[in-house]
Amino acid sequence: MKKIDFAIKHYKDLENILSCPFCQSKLALKNYSLVCLKNHTFNISKKGTVILYKTSKMKENKIYNENLFVNRRNFINGGFYKELHQKISDIVNQYKITTILDMGSGDGTHDIQISHYLNNKNVMIIGVDLAKEGIDLSNDYIDSNYIGIVSDLNHLPLKENSVDLILNILSPSNEKEIKRVLKQDGLIIKVTPKKEYLQELRTSLNIKDYENEKIIEDNIYSKYEVVKKEEIMNTYSIDDESLKYLFNMTPLMNHITHIPSIDFVTIALNIYVLRIKDDKEL
Ligand SMILES: [Zn+2]
Repeated sequence: MKKIDFAIKHYKDLENILSCPFCQSKLALKNYSLVCLKNHTFNISKKGTVILYKTSKMKENKIYNENLFVNRRNFINGGFYKELHQKISDIVNQYKITTILDMGSGDGTHDIQISHYLNNKNVMIIGVDLAKEGIDLSNDYIDSNYIGIVSDLNHLPLKENSVDLILNILSPSNEKEIKRVLKQDGLIIKVTPKKEYLQELRTSLNIKDYENEKIIEDNIYSKYEVVKKEEIMNTYSIDDESLKYLFNMTPLMNHITHIPSIDFVTIALNIYVLRIKDDKEL
């Protein structure tokens, strides 16, 4: 089967939860396009990608380009986030989940690694990202229960109460949209960097620390009900090849021309399992 045919199969299954980014009406599959009730039409590319975004022309992003996502994929596949993938799948396995939305999915590699540990092999994962280069790559996984959609995270092409779980890994998110598309009692798994995350790289390049971990955490506690918090703190030795992947996947490094020489890398992350607070407007 070709990628576009897998996309057709996935979109057929998702027809009930997709909505038009222009008029929010229902999207239905017609041949190789998604068409809304007002005839806004979105074509599915050969790579299986649809742009459900309020523009017909995607600007090429100079930072989040294909090169960044290929390197990101290679680094993730090096096993540095294995504990993260296992911990997230352990959480998912405790609940009755059929649809997962990853906000800021990029090349989709975190999602597909997580899916390997899921007990329920029928869970559908939808990745959304504004970077078309990332989504095109992520649709390499389209023969699994995975589909990547180019979309604005502030205007998701999904109906209200349509997904069981939202994943948000080291990426910005929009709380209003989370609240809108998440089912009642749905879960959010949000992953944020601890101050030690990639500290060896930042120290060697004299780059300042990540935004205050405490400020991020206070913000999360003010907006959500925290069901559970887990932490990951692993320091790995890193070879030259993985270091090259890491260097090229990190937007901070864009203005730096030489790859620093480091022997270790720390992956330090907070994992928050959250629910929407029902007593407060977000
Ligand atoms: Zn429409």
